[in-house]
Amino acid sequence: MKKLSQYRKKAHLRFYEELNDFLPSDKRKRSFAYLFYGSPSVKDVIEALGIPHVEVDLILVNGESVDFAYRLSSGDKVSVYPVFESLDISSQIRLREKPIRITRFVLDVHLGKVAKNLRMLGFDTIYENNLDDAEIIDIAEREERIILTRDRELLKHGRVSRGYWVRSKKPDRQMMEILKRFDLKSQIKPFHRCMSCNGEIKDVDKKEIEEQLEPKTRQYYDEFFICSNCRKIYWKGSHFDKMEQKIEEWFGSMAE
Ligand SMILES: [Zn+2]
Repeated sequence: MKKLSQYRKKAHLRFYEELNDFLPSDKRKRSFAYLFYGSPSVKDVIEALGIPHVEVDLILVNGESVDFAYRLSSGDKVSVYPVFESLDISSQIRLREKPIRITRFVLDVHLGKVAKNLRMLGFDTIYENNLDDAEIIDIAEREERIILTRDRELLKHGRVSRGYWVRSKKPDRQMMEILKRFDLKSQIKPFHRCMSCNGEIKDVDKKEIEEQLEPKTRQYYDEFFICSNCRKIYWKGSHFDKMEQKIEEWFGSMAE
């Protein structure tokens, strides 16, 4: 009887850029040997190493691009790249379809602060503190939304085609990650969306809402906006200046 080790095959894998965030330190930014039996799909191999398939955009095996169904063979040299936003790799097989035209999100329950911030920048963002994984995936599929999550297991689900694992636990750093990852700078429309409910906000005549205002607000401000969904009233008070500062801080970090 042959020993099992005689059936064992070896490939070499290397992961690029932020895909290394998912790997233990001895496998980061270097080629490492991967031992396997049979002929697993490259997708299964990548996910077994802890990397959600949605983070991957390009796989080269022995220099040729392959799709997720590719079966690993002994001696293969595999290079795995993250989703590129700017680099031109159009001559290769990209695993994602074309970018969706309108950037819309659905967030997991851990990202309440990010939801408010994305809405503040005008991005259509679904967040509820009681959505479970199946509901998040359903919404993403039905409405072509990008899933943002702190739970990388959610992104390994086969029905998920667009998503991003948010690395940081700090809301400002989370925003910087997301803005950079999806290259959102040219798409922002600050103060067009309600931070509470995701409804669109529009100008409103002061006379229409005057009786709902605190006396000082009524005295000092003339320009008002209202959420077309929940009727919340907005004006350019001191919190508006703070928001502008935040936006500068997030985008300033990207220039570094
Ligand atoms: Zn609202």
